[in-house]
Amino acid sequence: MSPMRNITILGATGSIGLSTLDVIRRHPDRFSVHALAANTRVAEMAALCREFQPSCAVMADAKAADALAATLSDLPHITVLQGEAGLCEVASAAEVDTVMAAIVGAAGLPPTLSAVRAGKRVLLANKEALVMSGQLFMDAVAESGAELLPIDSEHNAIFQCMPADRVRDPGGAGITRILLTASGGPFREHSQDELRSVSPAQACAHPNWSMGQKISVDSATLMNKGLELIEACWLFNTDPSRIEVHVHPESIIHSMVEYADGSVLAQLGSPDMRTPIANGLAWPERIDAGVAPLDLFAIGRFHFERPDLDRFPCLQLAADAFKAGGTAPAVLNAANEEAVAAFLAGNLGFTDIPVIIRQVLAATDVVPAASFETIFAKDAEARRLAREQIRLLVV
Ligand code: NAD
Ligand code: MG
Repeated sequence: MSPMRNITILGATGSIGLSTLDVIRRHPDRFSVHALAANTRVAEMAALCREFQPSCAVMADAKAADALAATLSDLPHITVLQGEAGLCEVASAAEVDTVMAAIVGAAGLPPTLSAVRAGKRVLLANKEALVMSGQLFMDAVAESGAELLPIDSEHNAIFQCMPADRVRDPGGAGITRILLTASGGPFREHSQDELRSVSPAQACAHPNWSMGQKISVDSATLMNKGLELIEACWLFNTDPSRIEVHVHPESIIHSMVEYADGSVLAQLGSPDMRTPIANGLAWPERIDAGVAPLDLFAIGRFHFERPDLDRFPCLQLAADAFKAGGTAPAVLNAANEEAVAAFLAGNLGFTDIPVIIRQVLAATDVVPAASFETIFAKDAEARRLAREQIRLLVV
């Protein structure tokens, strides 16, 4: 019998959080929920608490936490916590062995780090946390002995295609290249002119994946692939020259690993995040994820093309920021978060997203990412600059 795993889910009300709970729901003999954490959605959180009966529920927003406590007053065994301190507490609690890090954006870094420092099994969906703090994050993993498992579908695929004991030494394992696949997003065939007028609703309508709004826009700009390039460099201790992005519009091959002898190993599956989530939850075992079997006859053909960096400059901006090193990836990430939020609010055009990011990167100096404080300070500076630039563009 496999041991029972007690889990905290950061970002429980989101797309990844709900998919995680769906896998957990199928295996009550394997998984129990210690804590659920979210930002503001009280009604959804209350319903999840009633179903999963966690010991703790956290709302990052203080008002939402008060409202949740009032709603759950008939369930006194559920402790309601709030704010970043509450998130960090449930991420590092002694009773917890596994933490799903699925908060979107930089807000996820403090609690994810807290789970890492407490030596948990950390299922990493929140790629922004790793992009921002790269080396410091990986140092914290090494120091605490935390078990970091990639949930991003591409990184989970790469992980599955590597020998388990060589994930941090791909060269030593005879790996020559990582082929990182990308769907190309909803605007893969749009002209530059057409891109100028796309709406948030169009950007969020991904052809293959159903995801949160921010990552949907990132997929449409290809910034998601840029963040994933950086994520892969840190997770697999490699550099961008060994990673090649392949646009694969069917989203069935989730990435590939090339070996010195010419072998290329791929991981395939339906585009359903429950597969990588189940892989991380049960690793190294395999469990039912509720995912329909792959029907390759129905799919018929696979296609591959190179990314178009002229129409989708965000991928190059991310590669350049990684090369610049230090605080540059944190600045890239913060500027992107602000630009995407402005686009979603209807205050910025789609093609202005890379313009803002480029301006913010040009206006900030790159300093060594010597501490998390330095990174948070640069994140704040980049956000201020991005908001200023957005205001200037809008008027
Ligand atoms: P989402 O918008 O659907 O959900 C985000 C979750 O984070 C929600 O539960 C929300 O309450 C919580 N949250 C937001 N701000 C918060 C804050 N300040 N404090 C605490 N909680 C906060 O997003 P998603 O699509 O589930 O993505 C989550 C993360 O997983 C992102 O980093 C994304 O890049 C990554 N990811 C998602 C997918 C996917 O298919 N959705 C795939 C790969 C990676
Ligand atoms: Mg991905």
